[in-house]
Parts: sequence; C-alpha cells; structure tokens
Amino acid sequence: MMNTLKRTGFLYHPDYLKHNTGYGHPERSQRLVAVLEALKNWDYWDSLHHIEPTPATFEQILYVHNQNYVEAVKEVCESGGGYADYETPISAESFDVALLAAGAVLRGVDAVIAGEVDNAFALVRPPGHHAVPSRGMGFCVFNNAAIAARYLQRTHKLEKILIVDWDLHHGNGTQDTFDDDPTVFFFSIHQSPLYPGTGRADETGTGAGLGFNLNSPMRSGSRPKEYVQVFETKLKPAALEFHPDFILISAGFDCHESDPLGGISMTTEGFGQLTDIVCDIAEETCNGRVVSTLEGGYDLNALSESVLAHLEHLMNSMTGSE
Ligand SMILES: [Zn+2]
Repeated sequence: MMNTLKRTGFLYHPDYLKHNTGYGHPERSQRLVAVLEALKNWDYWDSLHHIEPTPATFEQILYVHNQNYVEAVKEVCESGGGYADYETPISAESFDVALLAAGAVLRGVDAVIAGEVDNAFALVRPPGHHAVPSRGMGFCVFNNAAIAARYLQRTHKLEKILIVDWDLHHGNGTQDTFDDDPTVFFFSIHQSPLYPGTGRADETGTGAGLGFNLNSPMRSGSRPKEYVQVFETKLKPAALEFHPDFILISAGFDCHESDPLGGISMTTEGFGQLTDIVCDIAEETCNGRVVSTLEGGYDLNALSESVLAHLEHLMNSMTGSE
C-alpha cells in the first residue's frame, strides 16, 4: 500500500493572540503559542499547506447569529472591552479576532472545495461551539463551525453537512442552531453531567430536524476505547446513512486525561483514532472533504501533542482501497 501524504491545509493568524480574556482565564493566547511552538519543531511542519485566513464578513456571521447580538459585541469591543457573557470576556480587539477565527474556517472550506488541499485544520480562538444564535457562551463568541456549515450551503451550494464535535463539553450552540434542520447533522460526544448541562441522549432534534441530532453523553473516567466504540457503533452508521457532502469537526482537546477542566481520560493517540474514523466516513461519503477547527483544550502540553496527532492523522488518513 502506498502511503502518500494528504494535502492538509493549516490556518493560523498571529492576531488570534490579541483576543485578551484577562489574567487567569483558561482560554488564553498561550494555548496557541504553545501549539505553534510544538508545530514548528515537528517533522511535518513544512508538509502542511499554510493558508492565510481572511476575516468573515458581518453578513456571514449573520448566517447563524442575530444582528442585535453581533452589533452588541462590536459595540462592547469599540468601547474598549467587556463581556460577551459572564465567563466570556472580550477585549477591544476581540470582535475583529472573532471575525478572523470564523473566516479561517470559511477559507479552509474554500481551499478544500477548490481542491487546493484535501482537508484542513484551523488553529483559532476564540472557540465557537457554545455560542448560540442570540449570544456568546462559555468562552465562545461566534459559532465558527456553524457559520461554516451555512457557508457551505449558501456559497458552495452543498446540501448536507455533518458536524462532529468531540470537545469535552456539549456543543449546545451548534445543536441550537440546527435543532429543527434536517440538512445539518450534529453529533456531540461529551462528558455528562458537566457544563453547559445540555446534550442528553434524548435530545435528537425537533420538527423536521428530528433524528438529525445525536448526543453521546459520557461518564467521567471514560477512556479512548469507549470513545472509539461510540464513533464506530453510533456515529459511523448514522453518518453513512445521512451521507454528508462535507464534514466539519469541532475539535476540542479538553477531554484529554491531562486537561484541568474535565474527567474524560482521552489520550493523544486516541485523538488520532477519532480523526481516522471521521476521515474514513469522509472517504466513503464526500471525497474525504473535512475541515476541522479548534474548540477547547486547556493543558498546554496535552493540547499541543493532541493537535499534532490530529494533524498527523489528517495527513496520513488512508483511502482504504489502494
Ligand atoms: Zn470544551
């Protein structure tokens, strides 16, 4: 079997460090500094396809968020900073940085659709998956993955999008956005009980979206083997039946065993396995088209190692039949 590297896009901008959450906040710029330092010492750094992110437009943010909320964030930033919600501090630069975070995922989508790369990872902050249409939540300002799903449908005219969210926490913002929508299938695996308190297995969508939302709450102490089993026995059959045109990953690495925020015992190599399964689904359904974006992950070493493993498996994912 020939083991040819996939062309994996990598999106990062130094302005992501300018979103200042204040002293002692876990969602801090040092997270990306640490990941970048590890990446630059990595054998595959030069094999990544480096893509410059551009900001999302105000209109693109409105694909998901209410105008009142987006304008409120802009005004708070213009006045020097404040809060998007009680645990999501924003600084003067945060509005522009949040546009650039969402924009990186859109630019990654463009590059995959254009065939410039096979898949892509956006190393961004602020994260997005807790942000609901009407407000920010849980360190998240705009819902980067949700905006990208709508962008795929509106700009690239794709019909069905699968979002896979393996962050420690339930992706409540993404679930809320697509709850009654059968064109976006949302899968979230997360520790339960834990913030934000949603994500029960019986939350399966509403109205036309019934059956297009799949939650796998996991007990504290869950191991990679149990995560892999859920991916193989729950996500994979549902995803193959849904047959997406594109897959987005809300890649949070706070379920790592070293992370200070939760009790899941995921390992670095476990993230590689999860990546492989999602890439396999993508090969079977949508020509391998995957764009992944950073959500949580608060232990600097665990986060750095996990992002490396994720990228390595995005680059080395097998096409199966060669
Ligand atoms: Zn999280």
